Amino acid sequence: MAQHFDYIAIGGGSGGIASANRAAMRGAKVAIIEAKHMGGTCVNVGCVPKKVMWHGAQVAEAIKLYAPDYGFDVELKNFNWSKLVESRQAYIGRIHQGYNGYLAKNGVTVINGFAKFIDNKTLEVNGEHYTADHICIAVGGRPSVPNIPGAEHGIDSNGFFELNEQPRSVAVIGAGYIAVELAGVLHGLGTDTHLFVRKHAPLRSFDPLIVETLTEVMEKEGPTLHTHSTPKEIVKEADGSVTLHLENGESHNVEQLIWAIGREPVTDLINLKATDVDTNQRGFIKVDEFQNTSVDGIYALGDIMEGGIELTPVAVKAGRMLAERLFNPELPNAKMDYNLVPTVVFSHPPIGTIGLTEPDAITQYGEDQVKVYSSSFAAMYTAVTAHRQPCKMKLVCVGPEEKVVGLHGIGFAVDEMIQGFAVAMKMGATKADFDAVVAIHPTGSEEFVTMR
Ligand code: NDP
Repeated sequence: MAQHFDYIAIGGGSGGIASANRAAMRGAKVAIIEAKHMGGTCVNVGCVPKKVMWHGAQVAEAIKLYAPDYGFDVELKNFNWSKLVESRQAYIGRIHQGYNGYLAKNGVTVINGFAKFIDNKTLEVNGEHYTADHICIAVGGRPSVPNIPGAEHGIDSNGFFELNEQPRSVAVIGAGYIAVELAGVLHGLGTDTHLFVRKHAPLRSFDPLIVETLTEVMEKEGPTLHTHSTPKEIVKEADGSVTLHLENGESHNVEQLIWAIGREPVTDLINLKATDVDTNQRGFIKVDEFQNTSVDGIYALGDIMEGGIELTPVAVKAGRMLAERLFNPELPNAKMDYNLVPTVVFSHPPIGTIGLTEPDAITQYGEDQVKVYSSSFAAMYTAVTAHRQPCKMKLVCVGPEEKVVGLHGIGFAVDEMIQGFAVAMKMGATKADFDAVVAIHPTGSEEFVTMR
């Protein structure tokens, strides 16, 4: 006999947990199925441990680069990687407790195990059957590894978080968020770090101002950036190190190689073929704007869905909106708005971006409709030291009313500056609205409201 629920979320990651809690808060009988720890990629092998490591790298930079000119006579004598990992994992343990407590408080049944579909309405976990009126697939993705000889000698971002000792030298392969963040963290913590990108720069889809500034800072401060560098083969050496052979004939020997070339959906793990749910060729599940799949009563959200934005808060919001639509009679049309999603890359220095890049705005609206404002200065925190670091910002405005459709920044503390500007942009703010605000002085964010 199958146990029946109103709503089952498959996957205890950001999207699954958010949707399960919200559905339960609206009175539904809810279960969540997760084989590992609650929190999914973000909490266990993504955003959270990454940000802890990023803070660690900031502490190292403060001691090494900035402390002397602030008058501190300090010396970085030793860095204990495993102590940082221990602190990080203890923090994650407390997050697990928080999640489990919140699910219990809401009356959500937690089922530990891997869910597999038996048909459009039935799931099997550890030999038990479960049915639900509504099933939400939120199982996320896993890091991709290229199909080249010796690729298995590299680790991925999951492997990075398993490192208990600091590698002396690392090659990070990739050009997206993860490659840039991990390379920055490793370099900041003192590993000899090399970032290999296939094309002319990392983060190519970001605004050119961001890409140019990131590249400029990397060239000055590290990690060592290798452009036009496509991996051809990885060879494991007798001493345990790996040699990266590139298409351009170069070779580099390092202690660890990390693949950060994108992520793929884990659709293959849930026996989706037993259902009529449509996927694309890469296994991403097709959904409409309400997270509906091709099967009535089955939904998908987060990193598993086609055309989504692979960000935790996006999955959280989509999950909550879905639960509201299904179980809150006052919000029958609730859905996630995928427009103007703000995002931060925890690079060195950090990047914040909302909306259209300048080239995308020109393509969308025409060159004569786009007006750009920008600002460039040395972040004050660094400006009083010998290690001046640039902070650059840009507003992309369109039409005679100069509606702000793009906001981009790179520099010290930009990660903490942009959330409020996203509110303004969601409300349709124009350049005149930005100008009408009194600046907070002296801060970096005041530049966003004082551009001429
Ligand atoms: P991305 O898809 O962002 O970037 C991967 C990049 O690697 C590609 O764009 C490509 O860039 C390059 N690449 C692809 N294949 C190869 C290859 N075979 N060899 C060398 N380079 C290759 O993936 P990530 O893994 O960085 O991140 C996944 C997602 O996770 C991100 O999109 C982001 O949304 C999310 N994330 C968000 C974070 C945050 O919010 N701070 C942090 C980390 C992840 P090119 O074409 O230029 O070579």
